[in-house]
Amino acid sequence: MSSTTPSAAPSGAQVPPHGPRRWLGLLIAVAVVSAGVVYAVEDREQDARARPGAALTKPPTTQPNNGTKPPSKTAAAVAARRLAVDTILLRRAKAVRTVNEKMFLQDVDPANKKLRQEQKVLFANLVELGLDEIGYSQAEERFDQKAVRAHGASTYLVRVLMRYQIHEVDLVPVTTELGYTFVHRGGRWIMADDNDLDDELGPGAHQEAWDLGRFEVHRGPRVLVLVDKGDTQRGRSIVTEATEALGEVTAYWPRKWHGSVLIAALDDSDVRDARFNDEDVESAASAGSTFSSLPGQDTADGTVAGAYIVVNPKERDRVDEILLSHEITHVATADLGSYEPLWLAEGAAEYVSWRGIEAISGPGEVGKWEQEVIDDALPLLSALPTDQGFYNNNADVYGVSWLAVRFLVKRLGLAAVEDLYEDLARHGTDQAARDRILLTRTGFTEATLWIYLKDYEPQR
Ligand SMILES: [Zn+2]
Repeated sequence: MSSTTPSAAPSGAQVPPHGPRRWLGLLIAVAVVSAGVVYAVEDREQDARARPGAALTKPPTTQPNNGTKPPSKTAAAVAARRLAVDTILLRRAKAVRTVNEKMFLQDVDPANKKLRQEQKVLFANLVELGLDEIGYSQAEERFDQKAVRAHGASTYLVRVLMRYQIHEVDLVPVTTELGYTFVHRGGRWIMADDNDLDDELGPGAHQEAWDLGRFEVHRGPRVLVLVDKGDTQRGRSIVTEATEALGEVTAYWPRKWHGSVLIAALDDSDVRDARFNDEDVESAASAGSTFSSLPGQDTADGTVAGAYIVVNPKERDRVDEILLSHEITHVATADLGSYEPLWLAEGAAEYVSWRGIEAISGPGEVGKWEQEVIDDALPLLSALPTDQGFYNNNADVYGVSWLAVRFLVKRLGLAAVEDLYEDLARHGTDQAARDRILLTRTGFTEATLWIYLKDYEPQR
């Protein structure tokens, strides 16, 4: 039984599906991207040792030159390549801003029909998204023998940062990464491929909604929904459900959040860092972070800007405000920092979601479910669910997390629990910090909170 299908689900009640993997995704991203950066630096050092003068980060004009010794040919070639690729990337961004498909395709290999077709789809998607800002920049060169074999000796594989801001969705510009392959042909540099580096990038890279098939965009106030081209009815209905859900989050979670929600409900099981084909992930949707600075870019953890929701394609017909209010709670707290423990993150999302159910079906259903969590789920655990293994836990960790939040709300009031959440999300960077914040704000440690929870008798 998966963690997403509580065994004690009351018959007939709508059990909110869950959106795990938010932190899991983030942790993997930190690990992988950090490793990627280390690799890149080592690679670059080796490269520099192997080819003196090929210091990729320094154009020849910045190298010592006393007038007697001209820059080496290699350095000049590297600088020329860097400039050519920078120019291509600038043109690419300008093409999107000025809605000029011809310009967007100008530097794409004319002989590669498949790539050109994919780039056309990408261009159309980017234009339709409505971007306030878009820019591409070269990070570092990467080497891949396969790419060289495929594209020839001039192959230049580079990690690229795409910085963008979707109108009324991203509160600040955010960054995603890509890997582009360029080759020198016919006296100029052209883009020969866009996926040679995909396996080495962080999770979700080159797997953004716009990197996939052609989508259509549905907008509501503070809601933007992406569905496959032609899936219009679904797009409209998700806007309606998301608008209701946003209302619930506003009503039941006290943080004043004025952001918007992006929901991708595409016929694809791998969108961003959501991997719904993994056998141990049975969530109906997930909320994955966006970054104003990627993990490994300026800091190991990166800077979380917000989150986008991705719906499991197999669950697309079941998207309702109950599912979405859970996910939107994650979105509405994402930019705080995401250092809060998972029992609090998932417990708060469940809290909001169940408040919505309570508003619709009255307190009976919720009370019944709460008692079942106490009777059936609680005895199977010996402590609050830990972050480690949270999403693979066979016990109903969502139910117990929800119970812990219900308990804290009864005890301290909702406003204090929200303050606790904010403090932990911003500052709970390690267990010692979490313990200190929890104790200061509630009088409990995780251990004593668990003891009280075991004796919790909800008032009916
Ligand atoms: Zn969740």
